[in-house]
Amino acid sequence: MVCFNHADTPAVAICKSCNRGLCTACAVPVGNGIACRDQCEDDVAGLNSVLARNVQANSQSGSAWSATSGLYSLMGILFGVWGWTSNLVPLILLGAAMLAYGLFLGWRGRAITRAG
Ligand SMILES: [Zn+2]
Ligand SMILES: [Zn+2]
Repeated sequence: MVCFNHADTPAVAICKSCNRGLCTACAVPVGNGIACRDQCEDDVAGLNSVLARNVQANSQSGSAWSATSGLYSLMGILFGVWGWTSNLVPLILLGAAMLAYGLFLGWRGRAITRAG
């Protein structure tokens, strides 16, 4: 792959915003990513701050975690019973995976609630 702006220069990074290849002259480190100099710099910086806000909002809602956890656990049990009665092994496995994910979310939710 070569740089999007310089066809004879090998790309060393990929822009987080437009996914173009960038050489060292065109790549700008922005937060936890790389952006096109002067083009996507602001986009990626904005994107990063939105993501940071989302992470913050998620970590504050332990009850949302618990609700999702309950939903996954319930669906996991339903799929498991359905698979068991219909003798469908893939359904049983899916149910087990969903139940495990639900329990994991529940554990995360409790950890978050305790922390905050
Ligand atoms: Zn870009
Ligand atoms: Zn370049």
